[in-house]
Amino acid sequence: MSTATAASPTLTALVADLLDGRIRVVDLTQTLAPEFPQIVLPPEMGQCLPFRIEEVSRYDERGPGWYWNNFSCGEHTGTHFDAPIHWISGRDLPNNAVDTIPVERLIGPACVIDCSKAATADPDYLMTKADVLRWEAEHGRIPPRAWVLMRTDWSKRTDPVEYQNFDETGQHTPGPDAEVARFLVEERDLLGFGTEAIGTDAGQGFHQRPPYPCHYYMHGAGRYGLQCLTNLDLLPPTGAVVIAPPLKIRQGSGSPLRVLALVPGR
Ligand code: MN
Repeated sequence: MSTATAASPTLTALVADLLDGRIRVVDLTQTLAPEFPQIVLPPEMGQCLPFRIEEVSRYDERGPGWYWNNFSCGEHTGTHFDAPIHWISGRDLPNNAVDTIPVERLIGPACVIDCSKAATADPDYLMTKADVLRWEAEHGRIPPRAWVLMRTDWSKRTDPVEYQNFDETGQHTPGPDAEVARFLVEERDLLGFGTEAIGTDAGQGFHQRPPYPCHYYMHGAGRYGLQCLTNLDLLPPTGAVVIAPPLKIRQGSGSPLRVLALVPGR
């Protein structure tokens, strides 16, 4: 049974503002392609497959009037979403997989914390609670249920080798430290944490305590992760709204997705 409801002035204004550019849409998504860097684990562990694509037909004898492809990939490929079930700390939570997360939690305000200078100087840079408090002194307190996005400009590394940034001691990419990950969950009630690098944790996150603290604290508290984001430099520190619905994979731990930000226009 459908129920007739009155029009929402908010939605009417949203549509009008989108139409005339008072609100713009920024794409925070990297293009899915086989060349895009994939998470690599030590060889004795299971591996998440990179994106693969095969043409089915392209207006030819295989299908004269249509073009389409088959594709396959791991759940954690390209710009992607991490659900609480991804991590052992979140494995017993209710609604912890991509198909059961309440959909209203896939949209939220964005707080963009610019760590680009520090991460350019030090690829192992760890964002701290002090960074967040400094940001709040300028932009106000992080509201509940916000996406906290760590801007590093890491997405500007278009060479896959530079993006992965491995050396003989492992991967070197920026992320949050353990204290700030816990702080954002327990004292700021965030919705999730997003980064431009290949993980929500730093490349050397295994050496923190607990190991991979962002995964541990976020997912243990039913919060989400976004990684391999791009265009964070096009977002204002506050005022954007991020829309990030993963694919509805049954009991999925994550999925590639299109991440959109609504931002104030002109
Ligand atoms: Mn992931």
